[in-house]
Amino acid sequence: MFARSGRRVPTIRVLAHSAVAASVLVTVLVAVGLIGTSARLESATETMFSNAQSFALAREAQIALLMYQRISNLYTVTPDAELDEARLEMLDELRRTLGSTESFVGSDDEQRLLGEIATRLDAYLEERSLLEARNVPIDEMLRQTQSTFDQVVDALDRLHDMNQEELLSAQSDAIGWNRLVSVYAGAAVVVLVCGVLAVLAGFNRAVLRPILALHETITRFRAGSADARACATGLHEVRELALVFNEMADALAKQRESQLAFLAGVAHDLKNPLQALRFGIHALAAARSRAEHDRTLDTLDRQVDRLERMVDDLLDATRIEAGKLEIRLEPFDLRVVVVDMIRLYAPTSPEHDLDAQLPAEPALVEGDPLRLEQVVSNLLSNAIKYSPRGGAVRVAVEASDGEVLLSVADEGIGIEPAQRAEIFLPFRPRKVDAPAGAGLGLSIVRRIVEAHGGRIEVESNVAGGTLFRVALKRYVPPQPAPGAQIRSP
Ligand code: ADP
Repeated sequence: MFARSGRRVPTIRVLAHSAVAASVLVTVLVAVGLIGTSARLESATETMFSNAQSFALAREAQIALLMYQRISNLYTVTPDAELDEARLEMLDELRRTLGSTESFVGSDDEQRLLGEIATRLDAYLEERSLLEARNVPIDEMLRQTQSTFDQVVDALDRLHDMNQEELLSAQSDAIGWNRLVSVYAGAAVVVLVCGVLAVLAGFNRAVLRPILALHETITRFRAGSADARACATGLHEVRELALVFNEMADALAKQRESQLAFLAGVAHDLKNPLQALRFGIHALAAARSRAEHDRTLDTLDRQVDRLERMVDDLLDATRIEAGKLEIRLEPFDLRVVVVDMIRLYAPTSPEHDLDAQLPAEPALVEGDPLRLEQVVSNLLSNAIKYSPRGGAVRVAVEASDGEVLLSVADEGIGIEPAQRAEIFLPFRPRKVDAPAGAGLGLSIVRRIVEAHGGRIEVESNVAGGTLFRVALKRYVPPQPAPGAQIRSP
């Protein structure tokens, strides 16, 4: 979550999660709102439907009642079986219509009104049938039943008006809800569009633009602008990319600088033996005696040796960097290598006292004898080279439980603490006044030791010389199986 500057910068993951959470929240709110409003709309529509039905049925009932009255009047004037049947049918129709109204009742008031209509209708029918039974003339009958008849018509009118009012109110409710749904859906669309635009703008500012800038910087760097560095802006991961690129570019620049310095050092070191060779050749041509001729040849031979060693080191270092160091393992006694190397170096430097402390038992290691010889040779030649005033050089071999320890100690110039960490690194810049050498020896030594599963360390005191310690795995020959016969050679 924290950029290296220490400022809190959101990560792409946090931002993506927030955007998803916000869109889920908005979607849920929109869905809940739409479900709620559409339920209200549905209920308003249902109310409208039942009010419209009741409204129409109230009118039908009124018409049926009027028809019933007309047919009954005709029957009273002209009693006829067909008219009687017709008015009974009309009465049935009226009762059926009122019965249907029951199923669309929307309120207690309406229920009460329906009860009142039924009571008033019964009162009217009863009054009329009593008058009919007494054969009251039609005019008299109409006059006497007018009031109860009007009461039924009035109650049906009220039912009609009540449903009309409810219908209008439900209609206005429906219009209101409909409007709310439109506003709600519009607002949701606006919020979503704004959200998407905000996310896109944020993505553009905090991810896309910094990545394009980083890409541009990398392209410039690749094209040769070694000082091209990225600007660490945007979200955490993008900043990290820029910072990592800058670190890598700094490391490459440093590596390039040290390689150039290393090359300059090597070129300088190669020049010395070459110059010595040139002088030697002139001296050879001008030699006046056989002895002088042989001495010069000897010098030339040493310079060629030196050149060869430097070139060998360069080749080894290149092989090691390419991961192509070949190690051929075989068990051998490290004491033998040490004795050989001391014999080789002792005559080259009479002012040094070369001494070997070796165990009585073989110090067996499993390794490449030529490569480990290179290790001993390098440590020994360095001990001599960096002890310009002479002195003791002690090589010791010690076999412990699991390891064979080799140490090379001298009384030379020592190594400064700051330099100690660097001496095992290849291709590092060299000091101008350093004794000649490619400066690769110890880095090769370390890689050879590590390739054998061992380790190397240095202890040094600028006043009192240097001690290199190498630890290698001890080789333990396989034990003969119990009961196996041991044949003497
Ligand atoms: P080179 O000797 O060619 O410079 P090496 O890799 O063998 O390269 O050594 C690296 C550096 O370590 C040397 O340049 C020297 O400064 C330091 N060094 C190595 N061995 C000794 C030693 N015995 N005493 C003092 N300095 C040493």
